[in-house]
Amino acid sequence: MTADPVAIARDLVRCRSVTPEEGGALTYLQGLLEKAGFTAHRAVFTEPGTAPVDNLYARIGTAKPNLVFAGHTDVVPAGNEASWSHPPFAGEVEADKLYGRGTVDMKGGIACFVAAALDYLGANSGRPRGSISLLITGDEESVAVNGTIKLLHWAAERGEKFDHCLLGEPSNVEAVGDTIKAGRRGSLNGTLVVTGRQGHVAYPDRADNPIRGLVTLIAALQAPFDDGSALFTPSNLEFTSVDVGNTTVNLIPGEARARFNIRYNDRHNQAGLKTLIEDRAKAAAAGRVHYAFEWQPSNADVFVTKPGPFTDLAVAAIAEVTGRRPKLSTSGGTSDARFIKDYCPVLEFGLVGQTMHAVDECAPLADLVTLTAIYRRIIEKYFG
Ligand SMILES: [Zn+2]
Repeated sequence: MTADPVAIARDLVRCRSVTPEEGGALTYLQGLLEKAGFTAHRAVFTEPGTAPVDNLYARIGTAKPNLVFAGHTDVVPAGNEASWSHPPFAGEVEADKLYGRGTVDMKGGIACFVAAALDYLGANSGRPRGSISLLITGDEESVAVNGTIKLLHWAAERGEKFDHCLLGEPSNVEAVGDTIKAGRRGSLNGTLVVTGRQGHVAYPDRADNPIRGLVTLIAALQAPFDDGSALFTPSNLEFTSVDVGNTTVNLIPGEARARFNIRYNDRHNQAGLKTLIEDRAKAAAAGRVHYAFEWQPSNADVFVTKPGPFTDLAVAAIAEVTGRRPKLSTSGGTSDARFIKDYCPVLEFGLVGQTMHAVDECAPLADLVTLTAIYRRIIEKYFG
């Protein structure tokens, strides 16, 4: 039974699992896990307008606690393959680095936790003291509707209970061990629509230019919302587009729109934030600007895994293996942790993220070995 993270990562990279294709990656993992005694299930989820996506849930043991490792085998496309110095799906090693799409995000992370679990089982007569589960989706990089969110629901319906989860996304900034992601900011998209009255630019008194009102409201909405919190940077609203669409030089338009995204911290929730923004717009409009907000639905609410025994355990394991004390961070975009947090506390810890989604994505072999040792240590400590 192989517990070599480099070999597993290489084999996974050779599966062309460009989102949402399974590419053989889940079948490969299922084979490895079943050989080690895991019970594995595949679940294909569908949703109108999206491609069906294959997912894998595997568990060994029936007792509590159930430690879950989560991840995704789908990868973003390679782009122009000719610009890679190693073919993106060849899994070539050069100068002690494994090259290929997904080495960092996140087939490498999966390989490390699979290798760690197999190694732990090998050293403990094949059974964990509680249970070890793997929750692997093929739908993270695209729309993420037929993946983790449904797999969690599916597992819960079968009576599966999760106690703690490690998501193996690339969390580190410079070196393995420097950063654990212990939460994520929320993300909310909206559009501000200001309506005026169309008219001739030479007769502005007969028109009402919505661009004037839009500028006033944009200025008001860009003021700070807070100054951050213990684990979060300040919330930020960023305008991403201002749209009038007027190609006529002597026409005052009738409507002006501005799109924005807010990345918000744990001092807000979606409803409160919308109220805050609408109140702010109302004050700035002072009854003179006619406007409305259009809010897009968002399933990316803010969350934080509060420091506690599980975080302490992970920090201690990382420090013992690397000598580094990881920083708890909540930076970056959203991840599947936003869905997992509804079932159990979740931390994100994986490889160094620098080459993710880039040409020549690669992971140093030494990092794969270190990350495996860290996961192995976490499993050991977790089951005492
Ligand atoms: Zn990822």
